[in-house]
Amino acid sequence: MQSCKALTACLRFRQGAPMRKPDESPMQLALDAARRAAAAGEVPVGAVLVEAETGAVLASAGNRVEADADPTAHAELLAIRAAAGLRGEPRLPDCDLYVTLEPCAMCAAAISFARLRRLYFGAYDPKGGGVEHGARFFHQPTCHHRPEVYGGIREQEAGDLLAEFFRARR
Ligand SMILES: [Zn+2]
Repeated sequence: MQSCKALTACLRFRQGAPMRKPDESPMQLALDAARRAAAAGEVPVGAVLVEAETGAVLASAGNRVEADADPTAHAELLAIRAAAGLRGEPRLPDCDLYVTLEPCAMCAAAISFARLRRLYFGAYDPKGGGVEHGARFFHQPTCHHRPEVYGGIREQEAGDLLAEFFRARR
């Protein structure tokens, strides 16, 4: 039985049938970071910063507000800081940020200051978001760089993570 299975797999491989690959898309990596944050007792938000042209992941982070006792330790800020530090440059105009939740106003400002090319986010956040809700930071006249914004990427999974986290805490 075992050898038969192995033979079938081998034949499939030879015929060039698509092999099942793990999902390593940036939003999947951000969701993984959000899950790790939840396991550590943090609000489950994850962010991944990617070099647009090569797809290279420069930084990945989950929220660390509780762990660092730092109200500004949002996943987006941590990922931007890490990537800018890695590059030794305060601006990353050739980079895209993937985050599981609509960024707050603070993170939207940081995204603008970093001159990021694109922002991809998962769930919309009517309570705390600052991109499509509240401050709508990128739409203000005081905002001098507006990234392209794509919301609702893997929205359901990102939202379920958050809902699950807050349900368990109640
Ligand atoms: Zn934030």
